[in-house]
Amino acid sequence: MPGSSRKFVLGIAGILLAGGLIGWVYDHAVWGLLVVALIILVWQTRQLLSFNRAVHTRDFAQFRYGEGIWQQMFSRYNYEHERALRAKQEYRRLLKEIRRSTDAMPDGAVILDEDNQIVMCNKAAKHLGGLKRKKDRGQRVDNILRDPKLTELLRSNAFAREIEIPSPVKDEAWLNCRVVPYGANQKLLFLRDITERIRLTRMRRDFVANASHELRSPLTVIGGYLESLSEDPGLEKDWGQPIRRMQQQARRMNSVVSELLELSRLESAGPASKDEAVDVRGLLSAARKSCAGQEDVAEIEVVSETNAQLLAAGNEIESVISNLLSNAVRHTPADGHITLAWSVDKKGAEIVVTDTGEGIPAEQIPRLTERFFRVQRGRARDDGGVGLGLAIVKHVLSRHDAELSVTSDLGKGSEFHCRFPAERIVLEPPVPIVSGGKCG
Ligand code: ADP
Repeated sequence: MPGSSRKFVLGIAGILLAGGLIGWVYDHAVWGLLVVALIILVWQTRQLLSFNRAVHTRDFAQFRYGEGIWQQMFSRYNYEHERALRAKQEYRRLLKEIRRSTDAMPDGAVILDEDNQIVMCNKAAKHLGGLKRKKDRGQRVDNILRDPKLTELLRSNAFAREIEIPSPVKDEAWLNCRVVPYGANQKLLFLRDITERIRLTRMRRDFVANASHELRSPLTVIGGYLESLSEDPGLEKDWGQPIRRMQQQARRMNSVVSELLELSRLESAGPASKDEAVDVRGLLSAARKSCAGQEDVAEIEVVSETNAQLLAAGNEIESVISNLLSNAVRHTPADGHITLAWSVDKKGAEIVVTDTGEGIPAEQIPRLTERFFRVQRGRARDDGGVGLGLAIVKHVLSRHDAELSVTSDLGKGSEFHCRFPAERIVLEPPVPIVSGGKCG
C-alpha cells in the first residue's frame, strides 16, 4: 500500500478511535463512533463531489486538497492530464507535419479503409482525381474515380499491378494507379499524372505507323520492278546475283513494315472481344502441319488433354502460335524436339511452346519483347528475324488479358508460356489427344 494510503487509513482509524473514546467517557461509545464516522463520511463525500466538479470544469481553485491522499490524487491527476495534453499537442503537430509533407507530394495519395472508402487524401489527389478531402470522406473511391479497371484492381487485391485510367478532371489527361496495402486491411492508392508519357507514346506510335505506311508504296514499286528485272531474259548475267539480293532485302523491309504496322494496330486497339471461340488445339495442329515439307526442322509434337476453347481473336492467336513456333524452329537443331501444349487449370489456360534448342542467356530474357531486340544480332539477321515477333506476341496477349513468361536454359532449350485468365476459357469435355511426328 502506498504511504499516503496507509496514512489515510491510519488517520481515519485514529479519528474513529478518538470519537469512540470521547463517547466512552460520556458512556456512549457507540454514539461517539457513529457521529465521528458520519462526520468523516460527509467530509469525504464533499471532497469527492468537489474533486469531480473540478475535474469536469478543470477549475481546481475551489478544491481544498490538503496534504493527504486528496493532494496525492490531485497531483497525479494533474500530471496525467498535462501528459495527455502534451501528447495530444505532439500528435496534432505530427499530423499537421504529415499532412503538409503529403500535400507537397506531386503524386496523389488516398488512404482507403477495408471497404475502399476514403479516409484521407492529399492535395494532389484533389488536382489529379477530383477528390474532395472533407466532402468525399467515407465515400467509396471507385464511386468518384469511375473506371472498371480501378474497381477490378481494388477488388482483386493484385497489389503488384498498375493500371492507367483517364483523368476524371481533365480531358486528355491520364493517371497511373497503384494500390499498396498497409496495417489491418487498409490501403494506400497512389495516383500519378502520366499524361506526358502517354502523349509521347502516342506520338511515337503515330510516327511509326505513318512512316511505315509511307514506306509501303515505294517498297511495292521497288519490289515490282525488281521482279520484272529478275524475269527479264535480256538481263546481263552479272546482274542476277545483285538483283536477287535486292529482292531479298526488299522482302525483309516489307516484313519489317508489315510487322510495325501490325504492332501499331495492336497498340491502339482495346481489349480483344470475347465473341469468337477459338479452337486452340486445332490451331496448334495446323501450325505443326505448316512445317511439313521444310528441311532441317526438329520433331514437333502437339500435347493437349483438353478441347477447351479460347474466347479471343482467332487470327491473333494464330499469329502468336506461328511466331513462337517459327522462333523455336529457327533456334532448335534438326535432331531437337519442340512441344506445342494447350492445357487448362483452375486459374485459366496456357499455351506452352517448349524447345530443346540453344536457349537464351538469363540476363537477356527480360528484354526479349522489346522492339528490334535480338539475342545475337548477326545470327538473327542471318535467320531473317527482325526482332519484332515477340513484341507482337506480347501485345496480342495483353489485348487478351494474358501474360507471356519465358524460362530458358542456355544450351538446353526454352519455354514460352502464354497464360490466359479463366474468363476467356470455354470448357468442353476433356478428350486426351497426343499427336506427334517429324515435320514433313
Ligand atoms: P525475331 O523475329 O528476330 O525472331 P523475336 O522478337 O521473335 O524476333 O525474338 C527476339 C529474339 O529472341 C530472337 O532474335 C532470338 O535471338 C531470341 N529467341 C526467340 N525465341 C527463341 C527461342 N525459342 N530460342 C532461342 N532464342 C530465341
